[in-house]
Parts: sequence; structure tokens; C-alpha cells
Amino acid sequence: MNAYWSGFDLHSHSTCSDGRLTPEALVQLAASEGVHTLSLTDHDTVQGIPRAQVAAKEAGIDLIAGVEISTTWSGCNVHIVGLNLDIEHPVLMAGLKEQQLARRQRAEIIAEKLSHLGVEDFLAKVEAKANGAELGRPHFAQVLVDEGVVATMPEAFKKYLGAGKKGDVKSLWPTIETAVNWINAAGGIAVVAHPLHYKMTNMKRRALLKSFKDAGGQAMEVVSGAQQSRDQTNYMALLAKEYGLAASAGSDFHFPSQWQKPGKVNHLPETVQPVWLLWQDDNDAAKEKETKESITRM
Ligand code: MN
Ligand code: MN
Ligand code: MN
Repeated sequence: MNAYWSGFDLHSHSTCSDGRLTPEALVQLAASEGVHTLSLTDHDTVQGIPRAQVAAKEAGIDLIAGVEISTTWSGCNVHIVGLNLDIEHPVLMAGLKEQQLARRQRAEIIAEKLSHLGVEDFLAKVEAKANGAELGRPHFAQVLVDEGVVATMPEAFKKYLGAGKKGDVKSLWPTIETAVNWINAAGGIAVVAHPLHYKMTNMKRRALLKSFKDAGGQAMEVVSGAQQSRDQTNYMALLAKEYGLAASAGSDFHFPSQWQKPGKVNHLPETVQPVWLLWQDDNDAAKEKETKESITRM
């Protein structure tokens, strides 16, 4: 087996965004699946991090404070993950506050665009569904199912909410550069999430990675979930090397029985630099400094 696997899962969601497990339940499941280092990366919010940290301590695993920020790049929705953040940093906090407003505005536009479906008090119902979490299209989908407009969530996306459909509203997100700046300000590492999930040509994907690198980004997900083929992983590893980006790996777990289990991520190829070395090196440097300082004090 590859030396780098790992037990790292650096991309997951809880009920604080569109996941279905509470931060506590997520951490417990991840620990039981053999994950020793988990990052909770809810969409545009870090509100679940303190709860996940407490749960991780109890479960005896490491919790990396994370977030998944929605951005727009060249007409596409691109997700930028931030890892190992100071979640109380004012720049990050202000940025996520803006995201919340953008989400709220987007939700209003989606409700407006789908008003012909005749769901009464649509937005209020969607907010009730979100129950304090960041508003997202899955909440709209759930309401459309509840109201009998569609039979299933996938149908809701296929007809109304998915890419290119009426309810696919994307124009309110910040640029990649802005998101990277928030993450860097908070001492975190910016990571391009699931580069293979974007519907774009390979040439455009390369341009995306170049823009991201130029904006000060440091890493990309070389492995996203367990369904990626070996060829795809190798291709991602090649791009990571080409653009000088460290490699992250995560399940993008949202809920049981769907998508991946936490920790179910393929191994990183040995040719890449694992992203966790970036903060482990930082920690080592900090420790060294501390030791030196305490020696000087002695
Ligand atoms: Mn999601
Ligand atoms: Mn994503
Ligand atoms: Mn995600």
C-alpha cells in the first residue's frame, strides 16, 4: 500500500451546511471508519468547527478547521477549500458573512425564478428546512419533494436546480482571488476542490489551476472520493506537480448511504506533496521556536 495512506479525510460536510449528520455524528463516524485527521469543510461557514473539535477530542482524532468557499471563475462555480484556518480571524469572518448575504440573495432569486411552480411561502419553507444552516440548493430540492412538485431530490436537480436549469443561480460569488485572500489571511491553506467535477475542457482546467496558483493558492484535491479512477488520480497528480500545488485528499462526505463514507478516499500517489505536510512543518517550526524561546528564558 502507498506510504501516504493515510487516514486523512480533508473534505466533509455536516448539518451546518448541506450534510445530514451533525458535526458530532460526523466525527464519530469518521473515527469509526479509521480516519485519524478529519477536516470539516462546510459550505461558506465554520459554525460547526467548535462542536467538531470537542467531538474529535473525545473520539481521539485530529480535527482540522476547514471551510468550502463558493467562488465564480470564468463563468463557472468553483469551490475553494480552506484548511487549517484560524476561524476567528476577522478577515475570514467578514468574508463568510458576505457569503451568507450572497447565499440569502441567491435564495431569493431562486425562489423568484421558481415561483411558477406555485409553492406558497417558498423561501420561508426553504429556510425552515435549512434550520439555521447555510441555505443551499439541496434545501430547495427537499421542499420541492415535500410539496409534491417532484418525487425525488435528483429529479428536483434534473428539472429545476441543476447546472443550466432555471434555479441554477451562480453569479453572486466572489472571485477565486478573494476567497484565497480570506483563507491566507486566516493562516490557512487554499485548496481547489474536486477539479474533475467542473464541466470544463482540460485546457480550461489548467487555466483555472494557473489562476489559482497566481492568486496565492497552495494546493488542489488530487483525490476526491473513492470513485476516481487511477488514471484520473494520476492526471490530477501530474497537474499538481505542473502547477506547483500540494495534494489534498477528501471524501466530500455529505450523508450516509450516498456518495462516499468518510475516510473512503483513494491513496495519494507518491509523486505529490501531501498538503498536511504544510501545516505539520508549520507546527514543527512553531515548536522549534517555542523550544528555543524557552531555552533563552532559562
Ligand atoms: Mn454540498
Ligand atoms: Mn464542492
Ligand atoms: Mn464539498
